[in-house]
Amino acid sequence: MQPTMKTRTSDIWYARAQNVIIGGVNSPSRSYKAVGGGTPRFFVRGEGAYLFDVDDNRYIDYLAAYGPLILGHAHPKIKEALLAVSEEGTLFGTSTPYEVQFAEMLREAIPSMERIRLTNSGTEAVMTTVRVARAYTGRSKILKFQGSYHGHFDDVLVAAGSGPATLGTPDSAGVLQSVAQEVVTTPYNDISSYHRALETYGAELAAVLIEPIIGNFGIVPPDPDFIQAVHQGAKEVGALVIYDEVITAFRFHYGSVQSLFNARADLTALGKIIGGGLPIGAYGGRRDIMEWVAPLGPAYQAGTMAGNPASVRAGMATLHVLKTPGVYEDLTQKASTLVGGLQALAETYRIPLTVNQYRGAFSTHFTDRPVRTYQDADEASSDLYARFFHGMLERGILLAPSKFEAWFTMLPHSEEDLAFTLNAAEDVFKAMRTQL
Ligand SMILES: *Cc1c(COP(=O)(O)O)cnc(C)c1O
Repeated sequence: MQPTMKTRTSDIWYARAQNVIIGGVNSPSRSYKAVGGGTPRFFVRGEGAYLFDVDDNRYIDYLAAYGPLILGHAHPKIKEALLAVSEEGTLFGTSTPYEVQFAEMLREAIPSMERIRLTNSGTEAVMTTVRVARAYTGRSKILKFQGSYHGHFDDVLVAAGSGPATLGTPDSAGVLQSVAQEVVTTPYNDISSYHRALETYGAELAAVLIEPIIGNFGIVPPDPDFIQAVHQGAKEVGALVIYDEVITAFRFHYGSVQSLFNARADLTALGKIIGGGLPIGAYGGRRDIMEWVAPLGPAYQAGTMAGNPASVRAGMATLHVLKTPGVYEDLTQKASTLVGGLQALAETYRIPLTVNQYRGAFSTHFTDRPVRTYQDADEASSDLYARFFHGMLERGILLAPSKFEAWFTMLPHSEEDLAFTLNAAEDVFKAMRTQL
C-alpha cells in the first residue's frame, strides 16, 4: 500500500496546464472539482489494466477512459492495427474499404442499423440522429430522460423544468431558452410521467431519446416494463425511438442492448468502445429514415475525419477481439467479484452503499436507498464518494472523479488486481468509518 503517494510532478503539470488549457483540462469531467478538488493526476503510459502517472505511480484502471478501453491499454491487436495505419496512411479524405468492412460488422451485430454513417464522436452521432428524426417526422420536439447524458450539443444540454413531465431549461450557459423549449424531460424508470408527457407533447415529438441502460448517473438498468412502455408510447404518438448506445453497445455483449431487451430502435448512436481507443462515433437505423441523410436526402451531416482508417481499423481490431467466446462472461465475472466484495465490506464497516451492476459495469452510490432514477443518484452522498475516490486514488486505484460515473471492467484486469482493489477499499472504508 502507498499511504502517501508522490504527486509533485502532476502538481507541476497541472500548474502549467492551467496556464494554457482552460481549467487545465480538455474535458470538464477530468477535473477533480466534483470530488472536492485536488490535482488531477497526469498520465504518460498505459499497459493492460494499468496506467502510470508522471511520478511513476501505478494505478489499476477502472475508468477505462469512460468506457472505450474494454481491451485495456496498448492491446497487441490495436498496436498491430495502428502500425499498419502508420505505414499506409492515417487519413485519405476519400472512401476506403475499411470503413465498409467496419460498417458491415456493426450492422451484423446490430441489425436495426440497416444503414450507417460514421462520425468522429458520440456527440456528433447523437446530434445527427436528432436532426434526422426531426427531418423525417417534420416535428420539432424531442423527449429525453432526466439526468441522461447524450453529449454536449445544445439540444441535450437541457435540464428538467419543475414538475415530472415538463419542457426543459438550459443546463449550460449559451444554450438558448428556445432550444430548451423543444426538449421534454421526464424521469427515467417512471412510466406514468412518461405517459403524461406524451399526452401533452406527443403530437409534437420527433423522437424519444433514451440511453437504454443508464451509464451516466451510475449504471441504472430499466425496470422490467419500462423499455416496452417507451416503445409502445412513442409508437402511439408517431415519434421515433433513438437509442443512445454510445456506452452500452459492445459493453455487455457483442452487439447492442436491443437484442437483450427484444427491442428495435429506429435510430441508434454508437461511440466509445467501437473506436478501439481512437475518436469515433456512428449512427444508423431504418433504411427509409437514413435515406433522409445527404447525399441521398436533405438532412445534412459531414466530417473531414469521419471513417478515417486509424479509428476504423482500431475499431475493427477491437470488435474482432470481442468476438472471442467467453470474453463477456469474463468481464461480468470480474465485475461481480468486485461488487460482491464491495458490498460485503460496506456491510462490515457499516458504510451506506448501493451498488448497481449490469454485467461488466457497475456504480457505487453512497446511500442506503436503491438507485433507479437521476434523483436517487443525485441524493447519494457526494462527500462520501469524494473521500472514497481520493482514498482509492492514493492506494493506486483509478476511478472516475464523479459520483455519477461507472466502474468498467477490462479484459486485462487480473484476479490479483481485483484482490488488490478490494484490499484498498477495505482500508478506505475503515478510514471513512472512523469519520462518519
Ligand atoms: C460519452 C457519451 C456521449 C458522447 O460521446 P463523445 O464521444 O464524448 O462525444 C453520448 N452519449 C452517451 C450515453 C455517452 O456516454
